[in-house]
Amino acid sequence: MSNVETDPHETVCHGADGAAAGDHHVEVLEPRDVPLGGPRAMTVRRTLPQRRRSMIGAWCFADHYGPDDVSRTGGMDVPPHPHTGLQTVSWLFTGEVEHRDSLGTHALVRPGELNLMTGGHGIAHSEVSTPGTTTLHGVQLWVALPDSDRDAPRDFQHHAPTPVELEGATVSVFLGSLAGQVSPVRTATPLLGAEVVLQAGARLELAVDPSHEHGVLADTEGVELAGTLLPRAGLGHLPPGVGSLVLANRSGTTARALLLGGPPFEEEIVMWWNFVGRSHEDIERAREEWMAGSDRFGEVQGYAGAVQHLPAPALPAVRIRPRRNASRADRDS
Ligand code: MN
Repeated sequence: MSNVETDPHETVCHGADGAAAGDHHVEVLEPRDVPLGGPRAMTVRRTLPQRRRSMIGAWCFADHYGPDDVSRTGGMDVPPHPHTGLQTVSWLFTGEVEHRDSLGTHALVRPGELNLMTGGHGIAHSEVSTPGTTTLHGVQLWVALPDSDRDAPRDFQHHAPTPVELEGATVSVFLGSLAGQVSPVRTATPLLGAEVVLQAGARLELAVDPSHEHGVLADTEGVELAGTLLPRAGLGHLPPGVGSLVLANRSGTTARALLLGGPPFEEEIVMWWNFVGRSHEDIERAREEWMAGSDRFGEVQGYAGAVQHLPAPALPAVRIRPRRNASRADRDS
C-alpha cells in the first residue's frame, strides 16, 4: 500500500530507542487513525512509526485496516507508486488484493499468504482489491533494509505457510522461525513474522530468540501479552532479553494477533512518504526521480485505473533534523 497521507512528516527512525534492555515491562503502543486520501478513502490504524518508538527490529511501519465492508465503498485502489530502501509485507485476514509491480510481478494477495516485495534501489507497484472482495481486513507492514542491502534489486517472494496446530492455538510462521516452523523466505536481517489465532480462554507460551525485540499486534479484542491486555489494533512491545512470549485470549471468542520480531536495528533511517533513506538528500533525490519518471522505479504494466503514476506530496518546507526520543537521549548522554 502507498502511504497516501496528503502531508506526510519526514521521520527519523532508530531501532535502539525506547525501553532499556532488561526492562521486561510491556510497552503498549496505541494505534492512531490515519485517513488515507482519494475517492475510495479508507482509514487505517497505525502503530509504527510513532514518537515513542519508531521500529521493532527492522519492522518500521505497521498499518492495520478493516474489517471494512468494501462492497459499497469500492475497496482498495492504490495507483502505481514507488518504494526505496524497504520491503513491503502484505498480510490479509479477509479479502483479496491484486498486486502488479515494475519487476513484472502480477500476483493475488490472499489471506494467510505472505507477499514480500523488495524495493531496494527502486520499485513501483499498484494494489487493487478484487471485484469479488466484500470484506477487506489485513495489515501492511514495511521492513527497513540495512545499508548493505538498501540498493538491492527488485524482488518479490511469495510463501503460503502451513498453519500449525498447538494446544488452544494455530500458528502460521511467514518469516523466521517459531514453534518448530522455519520460513524459507529470504530477509536481509533476522526477522520474525507469524500469525497466531487463539481459542477463547487459551494461554500459549512460545519460545523466541532472546536477542530479538518483539511486537504483538492485536487484530482483535482480548489479546494479552505477558499479562498486559492489548487494545484492538494496538502493538505490545517487549525488549531483547525475553526468551518466551506468553500470550492469552481473555475474550469469549477467537482472538488473533501478529508476532513481529528482530534484533534492534542499529542504523538511523529517514522515512518520508514511501521512501526509506539515510538522509534528507536521499529522500529528495528519490522524490525527484519518481516525479521525473526515472527508470530507477520502472513501469507497472496492466493497472487499469486513470492515474498511472501517483504523484508524491510536496517535501516538507524545512529540513527535518534527526530527532531522538527522550529515553535514548538519556542513555546516550
Ligand atoms: Mn506500496
